[in-house]
Amino acid sequence: MAEVETHTGGCHCGDVVFEVDTDLSMVMECNCTHCFRTGVWLTFVEPSAFRLLKGEDAIQEYLFNTRKIRHFICKTCGVETHGEGAGPDGKVNIAVNVRCLTDIEPFSVAPTMRYDGLHTI
Ligand SMILES: [Zn+2]
Repeated sequence: MAEVETHTGGCHCGDVVFEVDTDLSMVMECNCTHCFRTGVWLTFVEPSAFRLLKGEDAIQEYLFNTRKIRHFICKTCGVETHGEGAGPDGKVNIAVNVRCLTDIEPFSVAPTMRYDGLHTI
């Protein structure tokens, strides 16, 4: 059952903290060169559903491939908390790393869909 809830999350060292309104019944796992290495699981939200509470200066941006997706990584602990990019329709989405949520039981979530980013992007 789809349900949007407010979750809190952050990087490992605590320099980056965020809040996101999202539905965790849709969690994406991607096999692109970046996602597969870092192990992120993603939930996608509109920018208005994501609030960076702390860490604007603690974030380093990483770009690769077409350089259209901005990956945000904590400068201190190296954890990627979220990313930003436009979908095929040009609409900007925030991709939040579900593995960074701090208010859920870690094994209570799992990817519900796979994206073949390796052969698509
Ligand atoms: Zn950190």
